[in-house]
Amino acid sequence: MVLYFTVGTLSYIFIFDKTTFNHPKFLKNQIRQEIKQSLTGMPVIAALTVPFFLAEVRGYSKIYDSLPTTSPWYLGGWYGVLQFPMFIGFTDFCIYWIHRALHHPILYKRLHKPHHKWIMPSPYASHAFHPLDGYAQSIPYHIFPFLFPLNKFAYIALFTFINIWTVMIHDGEYVANSPIINGAACHTMHHLYFSYNYGQFTTLWDRLGGSYRMPNDELFRRETKMGQEEWTRQVKEMEVVQKEVEGEDDRSYGHDRAKKVQ
Ligand SMILES: [Zn+2]
Ligand SMILES: [Zn+2]
Repeated sequence: MVLYFTVGTLSYIFIFDKTTFNHPKFLKNQIRQEIKQSLTGMPVIAALTVPFFLAEVRGYSKIYDSLPTTSPWYLGGWYGVLQFPMFIGFTDFCIYWIHRALHHPILYKRLHKPHHKWIMPSPYASHAFHPLDGYAQSIPYHIFPFLFPLNKFAYIALFTFINIWTVMIHDGEYVANSPIINGAACHTMHHLYFSYNYGQFTTLWDRLGGSYRMPNDELFRRETKMGQEEWTRQVKEMEVVQKEVEGEDDRSYGHDRAKKVQ
């Protein structure tokens, strides 16, 4: 919660473009709703994570202080570095499939729809999940140290990084149009068009799984990104997909004119 509010608020003040409030698909009281959803989910997610932490402090995981040189994982001292890309690679793979499964009609409405309430997310949407959705997507992070050795400080550093990353992909600041990194632009495409870019850190599994969609060029030009023309086009396509995925739209938007773009 401390990370969520600190990083989310810093991002909201310094990075998030407030012009987004005028986007036709920005909801009425959206920020308040995002924070409320996050605060509802987090305690349940934390409680469900207790068994993992308990098993860790009781010594059942492979979390370590210093890896003995006799360990097969020692690798001449390189494992200290290697664990970082391994952690990102492993969780990126798992979250892709969990997230994709959450988009299956059986699970979507019950579990994942609360996170898709935000068509144009703000940094506060980053942790706004149904508790079981948030928990499901966090499981890979907690399974990793039971399968592979992980330094305890690296674990904390990665935990912090993941939370910052989650805020960053929801802040609408499309730093770079990277073909490899699943950044804010890719995740904005996910919130807008639902069935693309399920990845968390990279576009690898979306490319292999046939769900990659390159972010629109317009998103990277300041003048067009927040322009009426781009918004109208987004809304037009988004409403078709939204109807297919969810049926009738039960969101209430901040601007009446936005309800239906002609
Ligand atoms: Zn999703
Ligand atoms: Zn999201």
